[in-house]
Amino acid sequence: MDGTNVEAFDSVLEAIGGTPLIRLARVAPAAGPPVYVKAEFLNPGGSVKDRAALSMVLAAERSGELKPGGHIVEGTSGNTGIGLAIVAAQRGYRLTVVVPDKSSREKTLILQAYGAEVVVTPGAVPREDPAHVSQLARRIAEESGGWLANQYDNPANPAAHHGGTGPEIWRQTRGRVTHFVAGIGTGGTISGTGAYLKEVSEGRIRVIGTDPDHSVYSGGDGSPYFVESIGHYRHPGTAEDLWPQSYHRDVVDVVEPIGDRESILTARRLAREEGLLLGASAGTAVAGALRLAATLPPDDLVVVVVPDSGRSYLSKYYDDEWLRGFGFLEDEHDEPTVAATARACSWLPSTASIGDALDHDGPGDRWAVTVPRPGAAGPPAAAEVTGTLDVPRLRAAAAQHRARRSDPITDYVGPALPTTGLGETRRAATAKLGQAPAAWVLTDGRVTGVFEAADPAAPS
Ligand code: PMP
Repeated sequence: MDGTNVEAFDSVLEAIGGTPLIRLARVAPAAGPPVYVKAEFLNPGGSVKDRAALSMVLAAERSGELKPGGHIVEGTSGNTGIGLAIVAAQRGYRLTVVVPDKSSREKTLILQAYGAEVVVTPGAVPREDPAHVSQLARRIAEESGGWLANQYDNPANPAAHHGGTGPEIWRQTRGRVTHFVAGIGTGGTISGTGAYLKEVSEGRIRVIGTDPDHSVYSGGDGSPYFVESIGHYRHPGTAEDLWPQSYHRDVVDVVEPIGDRESILTARRLAREEGLLLGASAGTAVAGALRLAATLPPDDLVVVVVPDSGRSYLSKYYDDEWLRGFGFLEDEHDEPTVAATARACSWLPSTASIGDALDHDGPGDRWAVTVPRPGAAGPPAAAEVTGTLDVPRLRAAAAQHRARRSDPITDYVGPALPTTGLGETRRAATAKLGQAPAAWVLTDGRVTGVFEAADPAAPS
């Protein structure tokens, strides 16, 4: 309420937080406990990160780290930048945001609309690389005398949820909440909210993290995944993999791995069946909550954080063509699809020797050559395929004693192939080939086969 007795906020900052709980009336199992989403997409910047942004700026003003008219700098996948942009606009700060190139274009455009300066940097680089989001943001802050918000290690990030999200959920459920589910990016949401709920319930409430299945938080191999803003990717060249200090692991009882396909399809279901248009990290969290709810009695009560809106991802998770291209969608076609004629393939790290390749008993004539990733699980992510091994040529050279077992495979590796999704029509896949003799077939963004340009086995 402002001073004029008009029922209004003094500024947009007062509209941050206080988000409603909304029951999942249709997708949650009818016999199970009620499942409520904490609707964080209703914050003014469209995401849960408005809370952390405001909290971090207020703390920095209090400590004197951020002076009037100062410069805020942050590395972020986008939403924290949007939150900071709102606070910066209201309180007269300049803002520079460093975003990884994997972030959606919509988020960059929104940041620019708020007047933020946006610096895009490659996302897939080792942590020690000067171009890494965190390193670059730190350098820009140092060089400009700015204040680095540093959401990954800033205690004011989880504190926003300990003081806000947690008490709200407790109040809104009249203390009946039994399970709290959230994704883990910086860890601020789950750590702050989870800690509060455990304290107030004397340890009764269970806290469940949901995580992309290749993220290292849930024990994955750290390879690329498609859900933005949660999980922890590990570049194979990273020497020391630091986890954020905003993530308090002791608060979380279990971290549930969820595949990209389940996350994306759950988000799409929520739009069509519940009227909730949400981001893919919300799909991950709700997928975890639904799995959990299926195991619980009806008198439990599940609250799950849905961090942002699907409007930021219309060109990705809500674009059928995008999904089909990565093999996330296999809808019905009258025409023959890639799936009908895809051939099996195998994969090897680029560091493999000729001996390794000869001993490797894989199918097909073209094998994907990948960046070396210790502990890699399953087929390689398309983003980690760097070349194509010509298997018949290598075997012929070995048979004619022209190849030494200890030599690297390099001489037999050609360029990586274009990609096509398993559910694409053969016509669409052929159009993607260009001059290439074949394309990698992707299932859930991973190389699972080869589509040959003129395949005699193919139906016409
Ligand atoms: N989902 C989205 C869309 C986000 O932007 C974030 C913030 N990175 C998260 C989930 C994770 O939240 P937190 O950083 O608090 O763990």
